[in-house]
Amino acid sequence: MDQIKFLAGRANWIRGSALAEVMKKAAELRAQGRHLISLSAGDPDPNLIPREALGELAGEILQEIPQSVMYTPANGIPELREELSSFLKKYEGYTTDPSEIIITVGGTGAIDLLGRVLLDPGDVVITENPSYINSLLAFEQLGAKVVGIPVDGEGMKVEMLEEKLRELENRGEKVKFIYTIPTGQNPLGITMSLERRKALLDVAKEHDLLIVEDSAYNFMRYEGEARPLKALDDEGRVIVVGTFSKIMGTGFRVGWLIAGNVIGKKVLMEKSPIDFCAPTISQYIALEYLRRGYFEEYHLKRALPGYRKKRDAMLNALKDNLPDAEFTRPIAGMFIMLFLPEGADGMAFATELMQETGVVVVPGKPFYTDGSGENALRLNFSRPEEEEILEGIERLAAFYRRKF
Ligand SMILES: *Cc1c(COP(=O)(O)O)cnc(C)c1O
Repeated sequence: MDQIKFLAGRANWIRGSALAEVMKKAAELRAQGRHLISLSAGDPDPNLIPREALGELAGEILQEIPQSVMYTPANGIPELREELSSFLKKYEGYTTDPSEIIITVGGTGAIDLLGRVLLDPGDVVITENPSYINSLLAFEQLGAKVVGIPVDGEGMKVEMLEEKLRELENRGEKVKFIYTIPTGQNPLGITMSLERRKALLDVAKEHDLLIVEDSAYNFMRYEGEARPLKALDDEGRVIVVGTFSKIMGTGFRVGWLIAGNVIGKKVLMEKSPIDFCAPTISQYIALEYLRRGYFEEYHLKRALPGYRKKRDAMLNALKDNLPDAEFTRPIAGMFIMLFLPEGADGMAFATELMQETGVVVVPGKPFYTDGSGENALRLNFSRPEEEEILEGIERLAAFYRRKF
């Protein structure tokens, strides 16, 4: 039967991730019994997450709160919105009324909903180049055009943003918002400087654009300062996307969106027929996680030093084994971007590396908005064990030196 004729026109914009091939290959090798060292994850470390404490919470909640297995309000359970409002005030430095917070199915749910409410086909979204592949796909699947702005060690190059905005405006393009991951950027691992943050807000004001601040890694910062854009915003121009994924685990599927009244109302109406509510049991677990001080006790005191140690292990291994190579030095997040020599094919490198050495890395190219980034590789240091990091980088470096 020919199914194609049943597809919506919109389905033409659904193209899937270019990373699927590499991940499929890894799954095949694993199925053949091959032991792989994965530096390709997008997850935190399950051993740095207090699984036992969370298990106890889950047991208690399931037994004592009948509502925990039921539908709850589309914008989230009120207790969690209240607790989160205090949490954001304490750790992010801005005030948000609990009524402004919408609890979503992860940060992913928040980004998708925003796109649905804000974007018409043909609208332009500005991002960093490169940016988080899932967000790029979400915007493109709605028919939006993504325009990436180059990044240096201080984050998005705001001067180039201004130039690009003028060019787009002269062409009559409709730019809706600037999507940025200012802290611990995925995939680069770069954190935007305070000066750049202020400059970005100024440009958004001058061109009357919204900023969507993806704060996925704001709570995975190992050193330095990183004031949220939202805390610098005095006119309600910044929309916040947040998540418990990198703190509590990516499987809980609890995130949040702070979008302001008009947009928030539309988001909420759009949300109900899509997911009814974010997983209720996960919302109660997140609530108790905050209420009982687990964020301080487990995340700040134990998990963060563990991630910092793994980051240092990977940075040192890269420095020792590939002293001439170029790579980013993150102060936050879960990733380091490694650049192969100019002109190298990162896709081919990643595939051969996996086959020959059993080390899995993610090619950077699919994260770039303009087809560049051929020589980039994204390395994850949060998920693998320290020994795997050392062994993985050694094998990668040996392979690299054979190639170049
Ligand atoms: C992990 C991540 C998210 C959120 O993922 P969820 O699991 O859906 O909360 C959002 N943005 C970036 C850049 C991420 O890396």
